[in-house]
Amino acid sequence: MIKEIAILGSTGSIGTQALEVIENNPGNFHASVLTAFNNAELLVRQSIRHIPDIVVIGNTGKYTFVKQSLSHLPVKVLAGINEIAAVAEYEKTNLVLTAMVGFAGLPPTLKAVNAGKTIALANKETMVVAGQIIKSLAQQLKVNIIPVDSEHSAIYQCLAGEELNPPEKIILTASGGPFRDKTMEFLKTVTKDDALKHPNWCMGNKITIDSASLMNKGLEAIEAKWLFNLNPEQIEIVIHPQSVVHSMVQFFDGSVKAQMGLPDMRVPIQYAFSYPERIKSSFPRLNLTDYPNLTFSEPDTKKFRNLAISFEVMKKGGNWPCIMNAANECVVNAFLNNRIRFLEMPDIIEHVIRKMVYIPEPSLEDLYASDEEARKYVNELIK
Ligand code: NDP
Ligand code: MG
Repeated sequence: MIKEIAILGSTGSIGTQALEVIENNPGNFHASVLTAFNNAELLVRQSIRHIPDIVVIGNTGKYTFVKQSLSHLPVKVLAGINEIAAVAEYEKTNLVLTAMVGFAGLPPTLKAVNAGKTIALANKETMVVAGQIIKSLAQQLKVNIIPVDSEHSAIYQCLAGEELNPPEKIILTASGGPFRDKTMEFLKTVTKDDALKHPNWCMGNKITIDSASLMNKGLEAIEAKWLFNLNPEQIEIVIHPQSVVHSMVQFFDGSVKAQMGLPDMRVPIQYAFSYPERIKSSFPRLNLTDYPNLTFSEPDTKKFRNLAISFEVMKKGGNWPCIMNAANECVVNAFLNNRIRFLEMPDIIEHVIRKMVYIPEPSLEDLYASDEEARKYVNELIK
């Protein structure tokens, strides 16, 4: 049976790699739905190639272009972010890949879980903001959430077959980003171009900045907490610049399992698509002799304060992760627009968290309100 896959965010880094996986396996997968926000040209090219049942362009101003470009094909064209959420429920879809960036992934992810779709989760921000709500809904509806993030996919793979053996702890690896060995002095003056040069991975702009500031690892720790039902004390971060060990699980007998491979997102994407099976791929293989020195060290949370902030926020819970995420999305955007400096990002995030009202058990409405308020706050601060 061909798996019908909705790709929310098909024009991004994860989305385009997901389409490569589908294209390599036409007998296994078909894209039932494609969605994009601004990149109408690429969405049209993808649609001509993959003939999805439905495409959605988030920016309604580009609807006519997409509609006319696909008028000769049996493809339904919709527009607007509400439609992106609505198509997550499309009945023919078996699996929804959430490859949109940021808080915007929350409404469609909720719709997809509610509709009982298996989720291939790339959009980590959704889990950070509303992990508790999504996880309990998924449990209630017996919906499987399969991680795509390479670290979480690694842990998921290490836990396969270990249903009776919960982890003692997990070890999330981090490349350390382009500024791993730089001094504080250097960090004061880095530009967005410096920050956009990731040593090992080629990704969208937001996650690349998050990787440079180590916020990405903080978000991943919170994502892992929800995905694998862990306490913050069970999550350790180690810097591993080669990005070959994607993450590890330590069990109660002291044994540690690692999942390894070249840094190539197509592998965890394909695993999420084919799970529980593995299907053959022609992606380049890891040759261990190319990596005679695999190194591991402790992260410097004084230099990369986002990591310390994330752990504090994870321990506090409630609406704090939502506030941190919203503030981070805003400061990353401001940094990418040359409006603030690199080291101002954690300063502003921390300031906003401390200023806003703490809600220990937020409802979904509370989370939407916290997100909006935090964004307003940051935007006033950096006006
Ligand atoms: P990109 O910026 O490359 O792509 C984002 C996608 O989301 C694009 O298709 C974009 O459309 C769409 N989009 C952007 N804003 C909105 C919005 N408001 N509403 C609807 N769609 C929107 O991001 P990545 O692919 O790098 O990352 C996607 C997610 O996956 C993130 O959450 C990231 O943390 C996670 N992830 C990414 C990894 C990677 O290697 N890239 C690795 C692990 C996790 P358009 O371009 O048409 O405007
Ligand atoms: Mg990752």
